[in-house]
Amino acid sequence: MSANVPSVIDIGLNLTHKSFQEDLLEVVERAKQADVDRMILTGSSVEGSQDALNLARRYSGTMFSTAGIHPHHAADCQTDSLTILRQLAQEKLVVAIGECGLDYFRDFSPREAQRSCFRRHLDLAQELQLPVFLHERDAHDDFLSLLEPAMPDLKGAVVHCFTDSPAVMQAYLNLGCYLGITGWVCDERRGEALRQSVPLIPDDRLMIETDAPYLMPRDLPQSPKSRRNEPCHLPHIGREIASLRNQSYERLAELTTRNTERFFELPKPENTTS
Ligand SMILES: [Zn+2]
Repeated sequence: MSANVPSVIDIGLNLTHKSFQEDLLEVVERAKQADVDRMILTGSSVEGSQDALNLARRYSGTMFSTAGIHPHHAADCQTDSLTILRQLAQEKLVVAIGECGLDYFRDFSPREAQRSCFRRHLDLAQELQLPVFLHERDAHDDFLSLLEPAMPDLKGAVVHCFTDSPAVMQAYLNLGCYLGITGWVCDERRGEALRQSVPLIPDDRLMIETDAPYLMPRDLPQSPKSRRNEPCHLPHIGREIASLRNQSYERLAELTTRNTERFFELPKPENTTS
C-alpha cells in the first residue's frame, strides 16, 4: 500500500461470483495493494447472501455483506426466504438489507412479484433498523411510490449503480437517498447522463463501487485481457469521478469513506499501520 494515498471502500461487489473462484486470494491482494481497504459484498439471493456472509467472515474487518433478493429473483421471494434473510441480517457483519428494488428493463420476474418482494425488504429493513441497498432500472415511478412512504422509518437508503440524469438524481436526493457510482461513469457515450449528474451530487451523499465482476470501466490504461471487473479498479473509477467534480482524488476518497462509514456504521479498520 502506498504512503499518503487515502484508502477507499467498495460499497458493492460480487466476490462470490464464480469468476472469482480460481484466484480470489490474488484479487483480494490486488485490491489491498490498490488501497481498497474495505469491501461490502452484495447479497442478491438467499443463497448468495449466505455465501457473501461466509466470505465476509473469512475476511472479518475488511469485508462486510448485505442480505437481500435482487428483483431478478423476486419470484423466489417466499415467507421462508424472508425468515432466512432476517436471521442473516442479525449478524454483525451484515450491514444492509438488499440488494432489492425493481428492474423493469430485464423483467426477469413478474412486476407484481418484484413490487411485493421490494415491499417486504423495506419492511424488514425498518424492523431491523438497517439501511437498504437499492437497485432500480427502468422502474423509476413505481420505485419511488414504494420507497417514498417507507423513507421516514428507514435507517438510510443508497441507490446503487446510479446511472441516470440530474432530474432523476434530484428526485432521489429529495427523498434523502445516497447514490453509489460505478465505472459506468468512465464511458463517455453510454455514461453521458450520469456524467452530468456526478458533479451535482452533494459531498455528503456520494459513495463509490465497482459492481465487480460486472461493469468493467471502459477506459482502463492497460486494458486487461479478461473482461472481469475487480475491486482494484475502484481508485480508477474514483479518479474519474473526482475529475468530473473538480475535486482532488484525496478529497473524494476521504469524503466517500466518511459517508460509507457513517451510512453502514462500519467499524474503523483494525490494522492502520500504513
Ligand atoms: Zn444492481
